[in-house]
Amino acid sequence: MINKLTIIGVGLIGGSLARALRKTGACKEIVGCGRSVVRLQKAVALGVIDRYDTDIATAAAAADMIVLAVPVGSAETVLRQLSGHLDAKTIVTDVGSTKQSVIAAVRAVFGNVPGNFVPGHPIAGTEQSGVEASSAQLFQQRRVVLTPLPETDTRALNKVRAMWQQAGAEVVEMDARTHDEILAATSHLPHVLAYTLVDTLASMELHADIFRFAAGGFRDFTRIAASDPLMWRDICLANRVALLRMIENFSADLNQVAAVLRDEDSAALLAVLSRAKAARDGLNNS
Ligand code: NAP
Repeated sequence: MINKLTIIGVGLIGGSLARALRKTGACKEIVGCGRSVVRLQKAVALGVIDRYDTDIATAAAAADMIVLAVPVGSAETVLRQLSGHLDAKTIVTDVGSTKQSVIAAVRAVFGNVPGNFVPGHPIAGTEQSGVEASSAQLFQQRRVVLTPLPETDTRALNKVRAMWQQAGAEVVEMDARTHDEILAATSHLPHVLAYTLVDTLASMELHADIFRFAAGGFRDFTRIAASDPLMWRDICLANRVALLRMIENFSADLNQVAAVLRDEDSAALLAVLSRAKAARDGLNNS
């Protein structure tokens, strides 16, 4: 049971966590915090939070748990507003898509990573944003990665794990560097590819016809390019080292496919396509 949960950033992820925890009765009170009163009022009207405060220090006062659910580029600003206003008992966690950058922001603000800060990332989401898109089901049977540090307090870690389990998620732990490398491959590179493909096609002379005849495959592949550009700018910059490595690997493989096509090497082309199909089929069964 959490007596007071404060969610800073009541958008898709913060709002979905609030909805999921309200459903299970895991929190006595959920207080939202953000910059826009209109959006926070909407969150109250939708029944996502009990009340809100735009002042971070007031919203955080006497909270058992604070969840930072703002874009990763805003983490340091929000942490600075929080510093000096945290009770010793309060546990702080986050949902940011990049973990090393958030941990660096915590270090920059506090000088170290306090034991009661537990870095986290739910591997769940959609291309939509804002509290209107939030759903109590978003984390059901989805994974949440926690990236505790040696200095992380076990009690804080257990509480954050229990909160996500209440929200329906399976919680796994790994170090922040491994998290960022995996996510660069499985999420950040695919987003860059989808955005770049749509941008390339949109600048072509035939773009109107190209988009008019876009069928299921193209729509599936590019759905994620409808995600919030500001959020993805922050993620790409925050994880640029791992992302650049993935872009270089992918570019080399794409150039290899181009060479195979130039050579009309049917066997090599079939080998690439067959390997990829087998790997993708394996994903369906995992
Ligand atoms: P979102 O729907 O746009 O919500 C972000 C919220 O943060 C908004 O309510 C916004 O409200 C608030 N906010 C932004 N800057 C702020 C600031 N400086 N101070 C206080 N509040 C601020 O975004 P989201 O999709 O929930 O993403 C939130 C976090 O979850 C990001 O770190 C993202 O990397 C991570 N994440 C996203 C997904 C996904 O698929 N979307 C999945 C997993 C993790 P105001 O503008 O009113 O302040």
